[in-house]
Order: sequence, then C-alpha cells, then structure tokens
Amino acid sequence: MKLRSVDVLGGGPGGLYVARLLKLRHPHTRVRVFEQSEPASTFGFGVGLATRTQRNLDAADPETFAAIVANSWSHEMSMAVGGRQVSLALDNLIAIGRSMLLDILRAHAAEAGVEFRYNARVTADELDADLVIAADGVSSGTRESRAEVFGARVDVHKGLYLWAGTDVALPRAVFAPMRTEYGTFVAHAYPYASDRSTFLIETDEETWRRAGFDVASERLPLDASDTDSLEYLGEAFAEHLHGHRLIGNRTRWLRFRTVSCERWHDGNVVLLGDAAHTAHYSIGSGTKLAMEGGIALAAAIADADDLEAALVQYEQVRRPAVEHLQETATRSMSWWDSFPTRLDLPVEQLLVSYMTRAGKVSVDRFAGSAGDVVRTALAQYARCEVSHVDDGNLTEWVLRQPLGTAFGSRRVRASEVPGLRPVHVSVSDPWGSGADTLVKELGADEAMSGVLLSAADDTGSVLTMFDVAERIRREVGTLVVARLDPEATELAVGALVTERVDLVDLGGAA
Ligand SMILES: Cc1cc2nc3c(=O)[nH]c(=O)nc-3n(C[C@H](O)[C@H](O)[C@H](O)COP(=O)(O)OP(=O)(O)OC[C@H]3O[C@@H](n4cnc5c(N)ncnc54)[C@H](O)[C@@H]3O)c2cc1C
Repeated sequence: MKLRSVDVLGGGPGGLYVARLLKLRHPHTRVRVFEQSEPASTFGFGVGLATRTQRNLDAADPETFAAIVANSWSHEMSMAVGGRQVSLALDNLIAIGRSMLLDILRAHAAEAGVEFRYNARVTADELDADLVIAADGVSSGTRESRAEVFGARVDVHKGLYLWAGTDVALPRAVFAPMRTEYGTFVAHAYPYASDRSTFLIETDEETWRRAGFDVASERLPLDASDTDSLEYLGEAFAEHLHGHRLIGNRTRWLRFRTVSCERWHDGNVVLLGDAAHTAHYSIGSGTKLAMEGGIALAAAIADADDLEAALVQYEQVRRPAVEHLQETATRSMSWWDSFPTRLDLPVEQLLVSYMTRAGKVSVDRFAGSAGDVVRTALAQYARCEVSHVDDGNLTEWVLRQPLGTAFGSRRVRASEVPGLRPVHVSVSDPWGSGADTLVKELGADEAMSGVLLSAADDTGSVLTMFDVAERIRREVGTLVVARLDPEATELAVGALVTERVDLVDLGGAA
C-alpha cells in the first residue's frame, strides 16, 4: 500500500523506530515526527532488552540494532536477601540508557529521511497526513481525547515506585529488599553504561506514608526530583550502591498505570506503544512492546491493500502477544507486591519463586540454566543436605519428600487427610477484598485441620489459587492442600518448592 504522508506524534522509542521503518520501506512517503520536548531532554535511566527482543530488533533493522548493542551494557542477574547474594547467568541480558537509545533511534530515523519537529506539542486532530501514529506515551492525549472510541482503560496500581539511578556500573543486576524503620523498600537495579545503573525502588503505600514521602511528593514542583527520598534511600541501600549516591532525573514517587484499549485505531489515527498498552516494569517490556509494535505496524502497512485493512492486521497480529505479556506483567507485579511477606525464605528458594511466578518457567527448566541454585533450593524445601537432592527426576523427587512426620510424601489423597475444609478459589485478585474476606473467615474457623483448595483447570486460575494458598499458609498458619489436574503437575512442583502449598492431590494414585 502507498501512503503519501505519515505523521508520528511522539518521539519516544515507539515513534522514532516506526518512523524509520516506514521511511525505509516507503522512501517516497513524507514521514514526520512531532515531539513536544527538546531532543536532549528525556528523563529516565536505563531500559533492559531481553534476548528475544534483541532477536526481533535485529531481524527488523540490523543497522539500528548493531548501534544499540554497541552502546549497551550486558549483565548477570542476582538477588540479595538476608546478607546473601546469589547470581544467575541468564543468557544475554542487556540494558541501554534511555537517552542513548533515543539518540540512536533519532539518528537512524534522520538518516532514513524522517523529518523532525521538536518543541512541537500537537494533537492528532491538528495533523494532516494519510496516517497519524499516536506514540504519545502512557499519558497519551490522543487516547484520552477519544477514550470512548478506543475503549481505553487505565488501572492505577496501589504500590509506589521511584525511577532513580546511580553513577556507577553495578557489578550485576540486583533485586534487593531493605527493611527500614518504616517498612520494606525493594530495589530493582541494573547497570546500563560504564558509569551508570538504573536503581528503581518500590514500596507499599503504608510504608511510603509512614516515611512521610507522601507529604514531600505533594510539595514537589513538577520538574524537580524528590531529593529527600533519594537521600534517605541512598543511605538505606548503601551496601548495594558501593559508596555511590542515588541520582534523580525528574525522579518522584509514581504509581504504575496499566493501560489497555479495546481498539487501537480510529479512522486514520492509530495508537502505538505506551499510548495503547503498558506492562508493569518488573518484566522490563515497555520499550520492547513499543518497538515491536512499530515492526508490526510497518509490516502491516507494507502488506495490506488499504489503510483500514493494514490497521486491522496490525492489531490482529499484535494484540495476542500484548495481552499475554500484560497478563504475565500483572502476575509479576503481584509477586513483587507480596515479596516482603516471603523474606523468611532463603534466597535460592526466592529465586525459584521469582522465576516460576508467572507459570512460564518450570522448576525443571530453571534447573537447566541454574542447576546449583535449584539444587540448593530443593534442599531448603526438603530440609536436607544438598548432596541428598536427587534431581535425576526432579518432579518425582519433589513429590516424594515427606512433610514432617505426619505425611510420608507431598502427594496425597485429600480424602485421606481428615478435617480439611474444601474451598473453591474463584477470586480474580488474590490480594483483593474477596480474598481478604476468605482468608479472614478461614482464620476464624477453629474446627478445621487444614484447607483443601481447588480452582478451574486453566493455568491462570491455578496460579491464582497458589497465590491464595500462600496467603492462607502465611496469614492463617494452617495446612494447605491443593487439588489439581495431573496436567498441572509442573505448576504444583513450583508451588511446593516455593512453599506456597504444603501438599498436593493430583488425582490418581498418591
Ligand atoms: C520505572 C520504569 C522502568 C521502566 N523500565 C523499562 C525497562 O527496563 N525496559 C523497557 O523496555 N521499558 C521500561 N520502561 C517503559 C518504557 O520507558 C516505556 O514503555 C517506553 O518508553 C514506551 O515508549 P513509547 O514510545 O510508547 O512512549 P514514550 O517513551 O513515553 O514516548 C512518548 C513521547 O511522546 C511525547 N509526547 C507526548 N504527548 C505529546 C504531544 N501532545 N505532542 C508531541 N509530543 C508528545 C513525549 O514527550 C514522549 O517523548 C520503564 C518505565 C518505567 C516507568
């Protein structure tokens, strides 16, 4: 399909990348980017790009990708809990400074012939082009002004985060909780240049208020950084900052907003990137989604016969991947929200819990890339020496372990465990009010000897049941048995090893 003109609203990663891809494919089309800020005035620190994203970017535009890789920083991952830090060499994680990424994307777009208008705050209605791509970010004015047409929904998360940095390349990425007099703060930090690391810190609302950060936030001018919070947290996380300080760049406490839209286009206006959808930062996917969206949009425009067909195809191709990622991101967000409640677990078990949190990675698969960590976690689970772990058939070994002296194996027949109270878990939010009521009610039931949980068979329902199970174990302190379809055995193993459930009934022989 031929377009005479394309206007892109927003010069973030999504807008800049799609502008170049379109100009490369359609050299005779006028492609312009309108950006409200100066080119050098971006905020933020580094963004991470996982292996699959790197492959996709390489396939779509090898030249730009080579420049990204040449200016990025690779890192291992680690978690530091209870005075111990354990590393994982997950394959090929890289991160790049947001401003460096934008410099590269801008230079490559300009080289392809894209025109730029900076300091140009515009609306989609003001633009006159065959196609208007609204890549105007999470607060997209385009989405807001046509919220009903797009079926837009914005869910504001309860927890708070602060996107800070530090002026040193940390030796590796680290997840680290810090208990303070106010409550627990958790850092997600990773190096992205020879002298820079992202240092994102999150906390719950109660801790944030107890620390008085709510008051400071209210008084903060729009473009300023919250220096009081940075100073306090710099001291709190001193051991992970290696003598360096926390630095801000319009750094203030924010609540994450999950954006979703029922439709991504309206006539010749199409939403791209954060304007259309966001996914919680703990899976590091916002930039990836914006750029991969650009790849799909450019391909759909090249393939289709008319604009409407192209925009329908773009949405059909991208929506399943986006929704899948948003679901994973929501689970990840909940896992991090509840992270402070499981800090009694040793770091290896926590790493297994982290890796299996969204049901994408089984314990067995994780053992393939981090054998030592998983063996140690299995020993912690079974309260045995690491040398006693027989991971030849990991699944069977996990199920065979006794629970105290009362149960010879973790696989039981629920009908043979007396006094269990059956509960079918149907809540959608394990930390919502429905789950709160359930946990409270179970806490008041003195007659039961434990709980027998069941749920629908789909993976999402099973994972939600495990979240509820974990709450019941921790908050009620009772025995929790989960009844599952044998097909969910891998998920059951993850839940056992990470102490979310005590016993499982997988049907069939116990
Ligand atoms: C704390 C945090 C950590 C993150 N970590 C990661 C990570 O590790 N990995 C990752 O991939 N992503 C990460 N992200 C997400 C990532 O930053 C965004 O998802 C990504 O920048 C989205 O790109 P975009 O092009 O859609 O929008 P943006 O980057 O937001 O760009 C939108 C642009 O539009 C411009 N604009 C808006 N309105 C107008 C207007 N009316 N006129 C002209 N211009 C306008 C804005 O100035 C801006 O430059 C993180 C986000 C946060 C908040």
